[in-house]
Amino acid sequence: MTKKVLIGNVEVGGGTSVKIQSMNNTDTRDAKATLEQIARLKDAGCDITRVAVPDMEAAEALKEISKDSPIPVVADIHFDYRLAIEAAKNGASKIRINPGNIGGPENIKAVVDVCKDRGIPIRVGVNSGSISREILSKYGEVNADAMTESALGAVKLLEDADFDNIVISIKSSSPKLTIDTYQVLSKACDYPLHVGVTEAGTVKEGVIKSAVGIGALLAMGIGDTIRVSLTGDPVEEVYAAKSILKALDLRDGGITFISCPTCGRTQVPLIELAGQIEERVSRLPYNLKVAVMGCVVNGPGEARGCDIGLAGGKDEFLLFEKGEPVRKIPAENAVEEFVKEVIRIGEAKN
Ligand code: SF4
Repeated sequence: MTKKVLIGNVEVGGGTSVKIQSMNNTDTRDAKATLEQIARLKDAGCDITRVAVPDMEAAEALKEISKDSPIPVVADIHFDYRLAIEAAKNGASKIRINPGNIGGPENIKAVVDVCKDRGIPIRVGVNSGSISREILSKYGEVNADAMTESALGAVKLLEDADFDNIVISIKSSSPKLTIDTYQVLSKACDYPLHVGVTEAGTVKEGVIKSAVGIGALLAMGIGDTIRVSLTGDPVEEVYAAKSILKALDLRDGGITFISCPTCGRTQVPLIELAGQIEERVSRLPYNLKVAVMGCVVNGPGEARGCDIGLAGGKDEFLLFEKGEPVRKIPAENAVEEFVKEVIRIGEAKN
């Protein structure tokens, strides 16, 4: 089991639940816009967010952001140790930095001292592009051993400064390399691991790569926090992360949507209707299992296992609630009526 660290008031590692992280794409210097986006991330289910701190103005804005944010805020720093110190002083709940690229041991010690004083963990963030030439020539390529050695080398710089309040991430845009690397890393240390596939792509491609990379690791019990990295609204990252956790029974809550692939038995326009229903219900704040099935062969059986479901007939659906058939709904009214029923059941249950 990994060690437990505290990021603000959120426990990470040590057998606690897997936490969802995202990263704001607002200008951190604009505290108002950043806080608005953080509120949306939290509503979607985000546990911890990260903001870029590229300059002192952004580090200064962290004062207001950290004070008013409903979830812990991590400061993402590159190269300049003074920004890390300022961010820590201004209320960041964690510092993400690569200690290998902030100058000598005295700079590392200066960052460590402030973080120790305030009980703030440091996430050592290493990615496949930041591996040193020495390690690359030793291994001849970027592989799991090279990535792990690079990360543990960076961790050692903190340990040498007598600091062990650490989370590690090592990221690659390859799901396969991500899976291989975290397997090696998780055997080599007991620090909590932040897992993600970096630069995964747009929503469609990125969700698949992340589900494969993060999902495979979580299924092996590896990963204490996760980020689905997408080119898009970061709120989509949180929904995707939740879906990955739900698929592995690692998180409840929200709508679990089931629909069949359709086949020659389908006599309702299921593809179109299921798409419309999913669009309308998938982000409702109810903990419900919802099924939209094409026919009576598998439909009622699957729908019965759900809080609410539809099973298609000839141009109509049979509505099931809590396992019991309730009534028939003509296909043309199915979306409106079903969405209303989902909300009614959700309100009653929650
Ligand atoms: S539920 Fe019915 S319509 Fe859907 S795939 Fe199965 S058999 Fe076909």
